[in-house]
Amino acid sequence: MAATQTHTQVAIVGAGPVGLTLALLLRHRGVGVRVFESHPGLSRHPKARGIAASSMEVFRGLGIERDVRAVSLPAEHVRFFRGESLVDPAAELTAPGGGDEGSANTPSPGVLCSQDRLEPVLAAAARAAGAELRFGARVTDVRQSPELVELVVAEGDEAPVRYTADVVAGCDGARSLVRERAGIALTGEAGLAEFLSVRFRAPLGEAVRGREATSYFIAGGKGGFLAIDNDTEWIYQYPLAAGAQAAALRSDDEALTRLVRDAAGLPELEVEVADTMLWRMDACVAESFAAGRLVLAGDSAHQTPPTGGHGMNVGIADAEALAWRLADAVGGGTVDAVGAALARYSEERLPVAAAVVARSLDNTRRAYGIDDELLLGAGYAPAPALPEGAYAPSGAIGRRLPHAALEADPGASIIDVAWGRARLIVADAPEPWRDRLAAIGSTSGEVPVVSVVSGSAATPGLCERAGLAPGEALLVRPDGVIAARGGLEPGDPWLERALSGVSMR
Ligand SMILES: Cc1cc2nc3c(=O)[nH]c(=O)nc-3n(C[C@H](O)[C@H](O)[C@H](O)COP(=O)(O)OP(=O)(O)OC[C@H]3O[C@@H](n4cnc5c(N)ncnc54)[C@H](O)[C@@H]3O)c2cc1C
Repeated sequence: MAATQTHTQVAIVGAGPVGLTLALLLRHRGVGVRVFESHPGLSRHPKARGIAASSMEVFRGLGIERDVRAVSLPAEHVRFFRGESLVDPAAELTAPGGGDEGSANTPSPGVLCSQDRLEPVLAAAARAAGAELRFGARVTDVRQSPELVELVVAEGDEAPVRYTADVVAGCDGARSLVRERAGIALTGEAGLAEFLSVRFRAPLGEAVRGREATSYFIAGGKGGFLAIDNDTEWIYQYPLAAGAQAAALRSDDEALTRLVRDAAGLPELEVEVADTMLWRMDACVAESFAAGRLVLAGDSAHQTPPTGGHGMNVGIADAEALAWRLADAVGGGTVDAVGAALARYSEERLPVAAAVVARSLDNTRRAYGIDDELLLGAGYAPAPALPEGAYAPSGAIGRRLPHAALEADPGASIIDVAWGRARLIVADAPEPWRDRLAAIGSTSGEVPVVSVVSGSAATPGLCERAGLAPGEALLVRPDGVIAARGGLEPGDPWLERALSGVSMR
């Protein structure tokens, strides 16, 4: 394929949180990326707000954790409020979140940051990293051949433009065109409920002072409030009854104001309606996340009920799982390599997404809390897709490398060392392992060897958390997943075998 100005290695459809994170992760690996977004700008009407530890660890690796934290609510607001109204003196509050310094399980605890504040941070970083972001660019068609994918894009009043890419990643949300063109069906329960989301400004800060939360559930079927800044910027989620005249209600600011005042319990509240959005609660998963050169990530692949706050986070985890495989496949990969890499991604991610959707669906039937660490416990076979109970660190194959603070710098974590690359973590001196890698092959010699018993990455905590015996090693994939483990015993080719499936980038 001759290079043209309209060709790129990976075209991403959708500049939501998942598309932008994927763009950043791919640029981190030097992959050419062009992102098409139909809206003229970034999200005005935020949906997601809870960014979990698993996503914050990705942002940490990309060097933007601090920027995301700076536009987030304070940790003490990360809790739920349940009452008759916002001024109900008997309202219940859950315990607040853990704080910015991290729990024993993560150096990067989750935050409450609404999507309209997160996306500009991601977009600025993606642009700075060299991604081309095209706003006001609606992808109207996607067609693949064995060699490449063609996209038709409508940009403003111009005639549609034809672009090509080695791979197209559909990060285009629940009604994904890419999923439709790939011929991939959804399974699950659609239309569990319908909500009218009203973004409004009102001086509610005083009313909630001292009882700030992230979500305010109002009794009596009145839905609830989502805090953007816990001061003047708010979202009201109004549950629509079957057959409700949503279109008429959307354009009636007076009726919306009455609804907000009634749920808030403040009949005189000054309300300025900024925007409305209709959304449907679905619990669906795509039958596959890939077809040839088309791949899905985020809501295009799975629609998670927001009860639990996992939808965007599982999408960001898709991006992390996809980026290294994609970078490897398009960086000189054959047609088969691309197809195989995307199929493998689909095979691994589908059970995790299905488990998260099921867990979130279960949450719709009971009062749920925030499980910031749930996705840290997600795993690939032979590990279970999700832990039964609370996250517990593990060094099992298929699980994520656990966090352990470094002895020399307690603010740093073992997950920071050679982040984004395949690496060998050894409870041993590094030299014999370097010799072993060099003996395996030329590219294996590029895999960094990280000793956790001596040197700058020493962290005895990891041996305990990962059950790592003296002399043992963990081969960690670029996405932080443990690919294999073993010792230096002669005659056991575990490392040779495992390295054949792991990218060196
Ligand atoms: C009320 C509510 C609360 C939620 N709270 C949370 C939470 O706390 N935590 C959490 O993790 N998740 C939450 N979610 C879920 C979360 O919002 C979604 O999972 C997340 O937005 C998915 O991100 P995405 O990038 O995959 O898709 P989207 O955010 O939907 O972005 C898709 C983008 O693709 C663009 N696009 C679509 N089609 C085209 C096309 N043809 N051409 C070009 N561009 C196109 C769209 O304009 C859009 O910008 C919540 C959802 C709702 C409704």
